[in-house]
Amino acid sequence: MKFCPKCSSLLLPDFGKLRCACGFSSAEKIELKESIPHKEIEVIDENFSYGESTIPVVCWNCGHTGVYVKVNFHRSDEAPLRIYKCEKCRKVWRSSK
Ligand SMILES: [Zn+2]
Ligand SMILES: [Zn+2]
Repeated sequence: MKFCPKCSSLLLPDFGKLRCACGFSSAEKIELKESIPHKEIEVIDENFSYGESTIPVVCWNCGHTGVYVKVNFHRSDEAPLRIYKCEKCRKVWRSSK
């Protein structure tokens, strides 16, 4: 959370910058990437099929931004499992997040 230095209102993200209703805008870049904690990572089946497009998640292995994701609803009593595959290094891992 960042606040406007001019009027102290909450700054809102706008096209990669922080902007305020009073007209103030910050040149500061906003980090929109989602990172996955290492402890949730487990390499699984390489033959999994994935979607065509990538999402802006950072690969824990090579640092590349852009991974394929598939959400697997395997059991109704469990949280859906997300399976990620790096576009660059092809590592596969899963996360309950
Ligand atoms: Zn302001
Ligand atoms: Zn990678």
